[in-house]
Amino acid sequence: MFQKILIANRGEIALRVLRACKELGIQTVVVHSTADADAMHVRLADESVCIGPPPSRDSYLNIHQIVAACEITGADAVHPGYGFLSENAKFADILAAHNITFIGPTGDHIRIMGDKIEAKRTAKRLGIPVVPGSDGAVTEDKEAKRIAAVIGYPVIIKASAGGGGRGMKVASSEADLEVALQTARSEAGAAFGDDAVYIEKYLQKPRHIEVQVFGDGAGRGVHFGERDCSLQRRHQKVWEEAPSPALNAEERAHIGGVCARAIADLGYSGAGTIEFLYEDGEFYFIEMNTRLQVEHPVTEAITGIDLVHEQIRVASGGGLSVRQEDIRFHGHAIECRINAEDPRTFTPSPGTITHFHTPGGLGIRVDSGVYSGYKIPPYYDSLIGKLIVHGRNRVECMMRLRRALDEFVVDGIKTTLPLFRDLVGNADIANGDYDIHWLEKYLAEGE
Ligand code: ADP
Repeated sequence: MFQKILIANRGEIALRVLRACKELGIQTVVVHSTADADAMHVRLADESVCIGPPPSRDSYLNIHQIVAACEITGADAVHPGYGFLSENAKFADILAAHNITFIGPTGDHIRIMGDKIEAKRTAKRLGIPVVPGSDGAVTEDKEAKRIAAVIGYPVIIKASAGGGGRGMKVASSEADLEVALQTARSEAGAAFGDDAVYIEKYLQKPRHIEVQVFGDGAGRGVHFGERDCSLQRRHQKVWEEAPSPALNAEERAHIGGVCARAIADLGYSGAGTIEFLYEDGEFYFIEMNTRLQVEHPVTEAITGIDLVHEQIRVASGGGLSVRQEDIRFHGHAIECRINAEDPRTFTPSPGTITHFHTPGGLGIRVDSGVYSGYKIPPYYDSLIGKLIVHGRNRVECMMRLRRALDEFVVDGIKTTLPLFRDLVGNADIANGDYDIHWLEKYLAEGE
């Protein structure tokens, strides 16, 4: 087992990882920018190293500084959290070259899944169902037209190097296709320095369903069921739940089994999430994230398994602590992402939190690094905390969520809490009857 882990992140996830390390008796080092000197993870860690000024590229994305911090403190492993360097293959390679363990998959696996065309090709080869579309990049408009005619309109043009919902264009007819291709290529070139695009069928009312997987790097793979993350705004998840209200046990076991086998065949190591669009009973792979997800606590709630413990264990060579048959699902869990944003326009609202009171009681978990008097710096993501609620079934979970939202107090800044108070009272949400476009339509109607 590791002696000392360096946590290369900030905010709630740095604290989340720190808690797991403490439980396992592992020493912790955190790195931080000058803007985060007063952050909770810095206060609670055994050691901290300031690695630069506020902008992420000079601190949390500065590989040299982070490697230097490992060497100064003698950390033998790095947990990257999510975002920042968590899916940076070069970072994983550099750490390996310094004999420091990256708590995550190999650089090569990150590389494969970071290139969407390569990821889709790999998924297909491993028996994972994919969205019908081009086999690889499309360079000729004529070729694009031929493929679109076969799969049928509407189609979506996506950037191979894409991420964060950028570089995607929908074409509803052949007349739109040329412009869509051109725009997607130039956007992708400008945003990612790579203008390769591919084409796939555009699904009109899908749900976003993702499967949590783990591999031991030696040919074993397991799944921890799915999460439904269909409630999104601008492709950003807002509310996540497990299990999905749309799946039955048979579908869950089927898609979970497909994913676990794929992970085993790939020789994948650590945590991963295989994301699908789900429509009319069919799953369509869209991408794989090779890291811990923001929404992992809903899976922890229904399985009772600490996924960060599991990541650390696998990375240290201890293998998986569970077999597939040990992973059971209990009840229902929902996560609300509390952002420092206007609840209607989603404009960031940094500033000082004058009062912070979190709900408690059975089935309530709050993951947050903020406190009364904390000043939210304007440089980073606006997520300030996550409320995760667990109940014996979805109805109990929703009742408890409504109560917890009433107790939650964040004064001094705007947050997304009022949006969640509206959502718990909505009939479609109560029935679990929503797709990936539901929230955008709901917000547009309220304007
Ligand atoms: P990114 O990495 O940029 O987030 P994804 O491939 O994960 O891109 O897709 C992001 C979102 O775009 C999906 O959650 C879904 O809302 C939409 N999307 C992607 N592909 C399709 C498709 N074939 N049909 C319909 N919507 C899609």
